[in-house]
Amino acid sequence: MIRDAATTIIGAGAVGCAVAYHLARDGWRDVQVVDARDVAEATTAQAAGLVGQVRSTVERTRLAMASVRLFSRLEAETGYPPDWRQTGSIRIALTDERVAEFRRMATIAESAGLETAFLTPEELRDRFPLIDTGTVRAALWCPTDGYLQPHSLTTAYSRAARDLGVTFHPRVTVTGLSVRAGAIDGLRTDAGDVHTELVVDAAGPWAAAIAAMAGAELPIVPVRHEYFVSTPVAGWSAGLPVLRIPDLRLYVRAEGSAVLCGGWEAAAVSRDPRSIVRADAMPVDPDWDVLARFASDLASVVASADGVRPSAVFRGWPAFAPDGRFVVGPVPGIRGFVMAAACNAHGVSGSAGLAEHVLESMGPDPSPYVRSLSPARFMAQPVDWEQAQTRARSVYENYYAVTP
Ligand SMILES: Cc1cc2nc3c(=O)[nH]c(=O)nc-3n(C[C@H](O)[C@H](O)[C@H](O)COP(=O)(O)OP(=O)(O)OC[C@H]3O[C@@H](n4cnc5c(N)ncnc54)[C@H](O)[C@@H]3O)c2cc1C
Repeated sequence: MIRDAATTIIGAGAVGCAVAYHLARDGWRDVQVVDARDVAEATTAQAAGLVGQVRSTVERTRLAMASVRLFSRLEAETGYPPDWRQTGSIRIALTDERVAEFRRMATIAESAGLETAFLTPEELRDRFPLIDTGTVRAALWCPTDGYLQPHSLTTAYSRAARDLGVTFHPRVTVTGLSVRAGAIDGLRTDAGDVHTELVVDAAGPWAAAIAAMAGAELPIVPVRHEYFVSTPVAGWSAGLPVLRIPDLRLYVRAEGSAVLCGGWEAAAVSRDPRSIVRADAMPVDPDWDVLARFASDLASVVASADGVRPSAVFRGWPAFAPDGRFVVGPVPGIRGFVMAAACNAHGVSGSAGLAEHVLESMGPDPSPYVRSLSPARFMAQPVDWEQAQTRARSVYENYYAVTP
C-alpha cells in the first residue's frame, strides 16, 4: 500500500531505482518508489544496454567511467548481478574527418584516465573477425566498455534499495502533486492521497507531465528510438565487442548469436510533452523503412550481416532536453521537488552517475558541473515548446555527428 513517506521517487525505471539505491546507500531513510507499472517495465525495458565511455568531454567521460566502476562492483556490493559484460568496444571511422574526431576523443579519454587504443587492421580482424577492414579508416578500441541487461541492472538497484529499507509501490499512478506555500506537501494517486515532503521526478518520458503537476514547465521531450534483434547469424556470439559506426549512425552488438542493430535517424520523430498525461502508454510502431536502412548500412561494413532479418524490434521514447544534457536537481520555487530526468538516450548507462548527481544536487555544496544541470536553466522564461522539440530532435539527429 502506498504510504506517507518523507521521500517519494516517481518512476521505477533505471533512473528512479538508481536514485533509490544511492539515497538508501547514503543513509536516507523513509524512502518509497511509486510507479504506474513495475520495475523497469517502461523505456528501460527497451534499452540495448550499451555502456560507452569514450565521449567528447572529460566530464562526460568521467561520468561514464564512474558508471562502469559501479557496474563492475555492483554484484559484490549488493549480491545482485547487473549481467554486465565487459566485451570492450570498437568505434569505426569511415572518413578522414571522423579519424580526426577519434584522435580528439582519444586525447580526451587520456586526460580522463580512460584506456583507449587505435587498432591496426590485423588487430581489428582479431577482435572483430566479421568486419570488412577495407572500408575502415581507423578503429578506436576501448577495452573497458561493454553492455549489460537493463532489466537486470534495474532489478539489482531495486533489490539492493529494498534491502536498505526503501519500499516499492508498483501499479500506482500519480495523478497530482500537492504544493503548499511553495513546498511539496503530498501526492495524489489512484490508490489514495499521501503526505510526502520530497518528490524526485524520475518519470522518464513522462517527466514533463509530472513537473507540470507541481506547476513547473520543463521542456523534456520524448524522441522516438528503435533497434532490431535479428534471427541467429553465423559467427556472432555474445563475447564480440560492441561496434559503433558513427558515419553510418549505427551501433551494433551481439545478442547471443543474433545481431542487435540500432541507430540515430536523420529525421527524428518527437512527441509534444504537453500532449502526454500521467503515465499513459506511448505505443511506437516499428518503422520498417528505418530498420531496413540500419540493416543495409550495417551490411556495407560487416558482410555477415547481409540479409539479416529482424526477429524483434525494441522501441520507445527516451527523453531529451533541448541542450542534450541531464535535467537534475531541485526545481527553484518548489521546495522539495527534484528532477532526475532527460537522459538523452543514455539513461541506463548513465543511471549511476545521474543518481550521484541527484544526491550531490541536494547537498550543501554541489559542484559547478552539477549546478549546470539544474532545471533552472529552462525556467528564466516561458518554454517555447515548438523550439524545444526542434532542438531535442536535433540533439538526437546529431548524436553521432562529428564533434568539433
Ligand atoms: C530503443 C532504445 C534503446 C536504448 N538503448 C540504450 C542503451 O543502449 N544504453 C542506454 O544507456 N540507454 C539506452 N536507451 C535509453 C534508456 O532506455 C533510457 O534513457 C532509460 O531507460 C530512462 O530510464 P528512466 O528511468 O528515466 O525512464 P523509464 O524507464 O521510462 O521509467 C519511468 C517510469 O516512470 C513511471 N511513471 C511515469 N509517470 C508516472 C505517474 N504519473 N505515476 C507513476 N509512475 C509514473 C513509468 O511507468 C515508468 O516506469 C534506449 C532507449 C530506447 C527506447
